[in-house]
Amino acid sequence: MSQDSASQKKRYYQEERKESENEDDDKYQPYVPVKERKKQKLMKLGRIVQLTAEAASQGKSSSENEGDEDSQSAADPENWGRKYNISLLDQHTELKKIAEAKKVSAVEKQLKEEEKILESVAQQKALMGVAELAKGIQYEDPIKTSWRPPRAIAAMSEERRNAIRKHLRILVEGDDVAPPIASFRDMKFPKGILNGLAARGIKRPTPIQIQGIPTVLSGRDLIGIAFTGSGKTLVFVLPIVMFALEQEYRLPFVRNEGPYGLIICPSRELAKQTHDIIMHYSRHLKESGMPEIRSCLAIGGLPVSEAVEVISRGVHIMVATPGRLMDMLDKKMVSLDVCRYLCMDEADRMIDMGFEEDVRTIFSFFKGQRQTLLFSATMPKKIQNFARSALVKPVTINVGRAGAASMNVTQEVEYVKQEAKVVYLLECLQKTAPPVLIFAEKKQDVDCIHEYLLLKGVEAVAIHGGKDQEERSRAVEAYRDGKKDVLVATDVASKGLDFPNVQHVINYDMPDDVENYVHRIGRTGRSNTKGLATTFVNKTTEQSVLLDLKHLLIEAKQKVPEFLVELCPEAEQYLDLGDSHGCSYCGGLGHRITDCPKLEAVQSKQASNIGRRDYLSNTAADY
Ligand code: ADP
Ligand code: MG
Repeated sequence: MSQDSASQKKRYYQEERKESENEDDDKYQPYVPVKERKKQKLMKLGRIVQLTAEAASQGKSSSENEGDEDSQSAADPENWGRKYNISLLDQHTELKKIAEAKKVSAVEKQLKEEEKILESVAQQKALMGVAELAKGIQYEDPIKTSWRPPRAIAAMSEERRNAIRKHLRILVEGDDVAPPIASFRDMKFPKGILNGLAARGIKRPTPIQIQGIPTVLSGRDLIGIAFTGSGKTLVFVLPIVMFALEQEYRLPFVRNEGPYGLIICPSRELAKQTHDIIMHYSRHLKESGMPEIRSCLAIGGLPVSEAVEVISRGVHIMVATPGRLMDMLDKKMVSLDVCRYLCMDEADRMIDMGFEEDVRTIFSFFKGQRQTLLFSATMPKKIQNFARSALVKPVTINVGRAGAASMNVTQEVEYVKQEAKVVYLLECLQKTAPPVLIFAEKKQDVDCIHEYLLLKGVEAVAIHGGKDQEERSRAVEAYRDGKKDVLVATDVASKGLDFPNVQHVINYDMPDDVENYVHRIGRTGRSNTKGLATTFVNKTTEQSVLLDLKHLLIEAKQKVPEFLVELCPEAEQYLDLGDSHGCSYCGGLGHRITDCPKLEAVQSKQASNIGRRDYLSNTAADY
């Protein structure tokens, strides 16, 4: 039919032109018989049908053609009138097509708007050192290292590499990415490190390690995203130990030299844990007859003298929280002159907690190019975009969706009235054997729960930002060693901490951010173990975070409780557009960036804080 109508159309145009030429000539209006007029009308209709078909099939281009009069009138069903030559069924199909085309353009409109918002957010200052920004220094090439993959692996074809990645569900972005290597031995680690791994019962690398370690060893900047408990720490710890070793062999670090590598963590406890892991491998290296690798821990609450003592002997690696590090840099107790390796663990959380300005200041203490690595289980697009400015030709490695919960955790969400929470907590504790972790947003709640559990004879300890460091350390140590059954904590303990075999995470309340939820429940089900998470919600819980939670549960194939199923289905029609899911600002699955409560909060906070320096420093100080 379309061919037919196309030729008819042509003829019709020619006739029309001829007619109009005639018109110009002598204004003669010929009489057109009814039959002829009807025929012309039918032909016109034929053209309309054809145009609508075109509009529907092109989909995308239809919105671009919006200015085109023809297609607009075609897309307007009011112009159709009665059609004697088209069956009702056909008309219905056409109308349906038009409706779909309209929907596509609405989706596009939404996506465009989202892009605009994301762009405007990304226009904030780049995550670069002030000095580099001022001098306009931009590094083009990644750092060169002496590490090479084994010959057989280097020779592997790109197809084979991709097949391995696909099999392990590893997504990589970036140019010239190093090959995945599925054994620690092939990564060319020395005996000391292999012994250290064996001592921890670590035999084979996890997917993020298979792709991440070769990438870091080959000197590339990296954004590493993999779910909680998937072994991200070793991706930055093992290469930094190797680089430090190489430096030490070349020219030993003596008095006040170093650090060569810097690791920044969002909490003191995480910094201590990472430092301990480095020391573990350092010990094994030393035992195998290699030089000693010295690591220094710079965190608030510890006397500076301890760190200074290590620095005075020459330090290879420094693990720090931003506040203490800034302090030491300001007082010139340490310098980053020879530092060439920077890792930010839980990078997005750090930015989220308001450490952004601090991180920028720390960057400006670097003298020369560095290798930069960012890790987290959650990394919203806006932070990825924003962080890229600090990276040189970065490689992004994704194992699973950024922000997805660990599949090792069974998630239960229960409706518990505010006043019934504490009592129900005791019952909930019976669900599994210890150790159990309980999270609450507020310090007062943590204290209340702690007190209540102690009264009931539960072996519980508690940590939050209001306690002094000694108490915090003692509590964490006792819990880690299995001397205490329950740890009650605020979000200070939600990021990165790796307690052995936590059986159950109880969220006494739902955090405001679904990402914090992902990190909290990620304290259980680590490595290859399974875990349980129970979350208390009630009518005081924000609806938007409940929606995010609902979709996170669906994604992780968890049971969605009835009250969440019924929650606000009309808000969900645009959640999945094209290949983007949920919000590109905060990573929540239950809304789009156009109605992100977090973005709104940040923007209104910014607006009311214009002119003031780091507006979030109060919360950051807690850590
Ligand atoms: P993430 O930082 O991704 O949350 P961690 O690096 O803290 O995870 O690792 C979680 C746990 O898994 C740790 O106890 C660690 O010792 C263990 N682990 C790390 N790598 C492996 C591996 N390749 N095989 C088995 N266990 C591992
Ligand atoms: Mg970690």
